[in-house]
Amino acid sequence: MKYLADEMLGKLCKWLRFLGYDTEYFSGGTDAELLLKGRLEERMILTRDSRLFNDVKNKGNAVCFIKFDGLKEQLLQIKNEFNIKDLSGRFRRCSVCNKLLEEADREFVKKLVPPYILQTKDEFRYCSNCRKVYWKGSHSKHINEIIEEVFNE
Ligand SMILES: [Zn+2]
Repeated sequence: MKYLADEMLGKLCKWLRFLGYDTEYFSGGTDAELLLKGRLEERMILTRDSRLFNDVKNKGNAVCFIKFDGLKEQLLQIKNEFNIKDLSGRFRRCSVCNKLLEEADREFVKKLVPPYILQTKDEFRYCSNCRKVYWKGSHSKHINEIIEEVFNE
């Protein structure tokens, strides 16, 4: 399942990327553009806007109305509605731009990360689109705690 989060769901979008799910963020465009993107890319549209939800649904697009404002409740809803169990893609996708990350070694990232990180970490992942570098620990304990709480891992 691929997702398309509307403007009001930026945080949820980022968290679905943490979990490894292909999620695009839509902002600044018209409802018609949102609909078209969802259809062309075969994405489940996620929206917090009931008017938009009804409109999209009536036009036959795949759409899910997110019922909650809180992040944990939103994640739980997604987990239950789409029966999400597989978290093997966790932290393998760029949370900024949604691209899949590539494995990188110390040599590759040496000019891209602070010296302290270079000395203490040896596994890195790199986004070839926005050039962000990730390493173990760059996703805070807090993020893991929330994921574990929601998914009972
Ligand atoms: Zn990126």
